[in-house]
Amino acid sequence: MRLAILGATGSVGMTAINAIRKGLVSCTVAALISSTSSLDDLSEELSSPALTASGKSDSEIRSFLVSSSPDIVLNAVSGTAGLKYTLMAIEEGFDIALANKESLVLGGDMVMREARKKGVRIIPVDSEHSAIYSLLKDRSPRNLIITASGGPFFERDDLSGVTVEEALSHPVWKMGEKITIDSATGANKGQEVIEAAALFGFPPERIKVVVHRQSIVHSMIEMDDGAVYALLSRPDMTLPVVSALTGIDGGKDVVSPLSFDNLDLTFRSWDDERFPMLPLAYEALRRKGSYTIAYAASDEVLVERFLSHDISFCDIPRITKSVLDMDWSEEPSSFDMITAIMERARKAAEALC
Ligand code: NDP
Ligand code: MG
Repeated sequence: MRLAILGATGSVGMTAINAIRKGLVSCTVAALISSTSSLDDLSEELSSPALTASGKSDSEIRSFLVSSSPDIVLNAVSGTAGLKYTLMAIEEGFDIALANKESLVLGGDMVMREARKKGVRIIPVDSEHSAIYSLLKDRSPRNLIITASGGPFFERDDLSGVTVEEALSHPVWKMGEKITIDSATGANKGQEVIEAAALFGFPPERIKVVVHRQSIVHSMIEMDDGAVYALLSRPDMTLPVVSALTGIDGGKDVVSPLSFDNLDLTFRSWDDERFPMLPLAYEALRRKGSYTIAYAASDEVLVERFLSHDISFCDIPRITKSVLDMDWSEEPSSFDMITAIMERARKAAEALC
């Protein structure tokens, strides 16, 4: 198997590379892409061609990717930039192991439709979606139940004074900065609901979220007869990454098995008042048009502004709500339109900061 790793220097990219180092995935690394980080050492170690994409044109990036002739592309690029790579891979007919959730939040049904047309498989890497993907098999559940860790502030009443440093310390997962802040505000779970709707073709009312602090149950499906299937493991992104690359049940000794000695699993409901980014995502999904694009694009700006101390933690949901109060009813009919709407939403968020 020839594997192209996009976002190779990031948290998910390095999880894949570590899995390859440990022999958990047998493949030839055919291409490595980062934004600005040097890939010299990885390129030498993995004997792979490499490209730092910053400053390169889309056609240069495309030729590099095509010349690597991958069997599968791991899209582990962060943020809205990931959509471009997803589209490139679809157009070139490469299967995608998709970590970049923004691709589906922005491109939604259009991405899935184009992939189907081209016979491209989109295999989720996001842990919740990976769990649902492997539970589904030929089952047709009534509801999808996505688990949420609740982030660093689930037990904290007053979020007004949250600092950047506090928001960057996630209790369970060590991840890139954007997704870590999104986990603290609830925007990550919001994006995951939108992502699940596109991936599995479920309407918002059949996608539930439950807070599960231990991050051991990665998600669940609820059947018509009331039975619920869940996927459990120690929290480690190696499992969904390897599962996407080797196929469900394809990995061996990927994570050490759970010990059930005194294992407490707790479930709590989401608090819409303190974490309004989730209900706002549901609202964006229900309103259709380009509301989810506005949600993702403005969130990216707001996270950048929070990280540079320009706005407060609670400004993120407050400004998101104001952005969503604008008119985003236009249904995008092309990827160029998505890009244009993204730009408009970024500007709207900037103006409100
Ligand atoms: P990181 O911030 O750790 O890494 C991002 C990677 O993308 C880096 O290699 C970066 O390169 C690269 N990159 C950024 N912009 C571009 C660009 N325009 N062109 C090429 N490469 C680019 O992110 P994560 O690994 O945390 O997350 C990646 C994606 O996976 C996100 O969409 C996230 O939501 C999703 N995800 C992550 C999880 C996790 O555990 N981390 C879990 C589930 C989903 P450089 O080093 O040069 O900046
Ligand atoms: Mg996730």
